[in-house]
Amino acid sequence: MLLITPIPALNDNYIWHLSRDDEHWVVDPGEATPVVEALQGASLNGILITHHHFDHTGGAATLRKRYQCPIFGPASVKEVTNEIVEGSSLTVLGVPLSVWSIPGHTLDHLALIFEEQAADGTTQTHLFCGDTLFAAGCGRLFEGSPEQMFHSLQRLSALPPTTRIYCAHEYTVGNLNFANTIEPGNKEVTQRLAQCQALRAANKPTLPSNMALEQATNPFLRCGIAEIMQSGAHHLGRKNPDGLNEVEIFSSLRDWKDHF
Ligand SMILES: [Zn+2]
Repeated sequence: MLLITPIPALNDNYIWHLSRDDEHWVVDPGEATPVVEALQGASLNGILITHHHFDHTGGAATLRKRYQCPIFGPASVKEVTNEIVEGSSLTVLGVPLSVWSIPGHTLDHLALIFEEQAADGTTQTHLFCGDTLFAAGCGRLFEGSPEQMFHSLQRLSALPPTTRIYCAHEYTVGNLNFANTIEPGNKEVTQRLAQCQALRAANKPTLPSNMALEQATNPFLRCGIAEIMQSGAHHLGRKNPDGLNEVEIFSSLRDWKDHF
């Protein structure tokens, strides 16, 4: 079984630490020191990177120098030793890993999707989605268009409902406050907000999430829901969402969240 744990880094980043027996990998090491500490003397076997932002790559060069490990990621990241792209498939920690291109937050953004076979024959999907899909939210559009981000999120949301989602930031409470504002009738959002506030008060992570929970509470995956369409239309100064498509609702929500 893969053991997957968050290593808190910088202000609100999580570097995800994957291990099995004596093998260790990390995803998006924004800094090196917390990774070295988490390894407790063990060696690092490899690094995976989702996109080029410094808070996801800042520790990679130091870690490679120390452990001589390969760095898999998009070619836009200068530290990358092994480029991966849409359609790449490899085996990491004995588990098949597929790579998708999910532009929107940045143009080079990748999704890393592990499909782990359990002893009972079922498959557990693990999704590392960097700054694209957040718990109850999504990343800002720094490089891509609303249409690109919408389609990237739609693609991710078609993964199995049991998919575990490992986002790169602890943004969940803020995202749920926003979700609650635009979809006040959604009781699952209210419940999740209370649960996540309690976790944060105890200094515990609100992650990983899972796809069923995101489909129920993440407004950016729910752009076709009537209450959300109405909110999105209001933000655009319209009385109702007549004539607006889901991408336009998505774009309205993303703009609103940027100033929330
Ligand atoms: Zn980013």
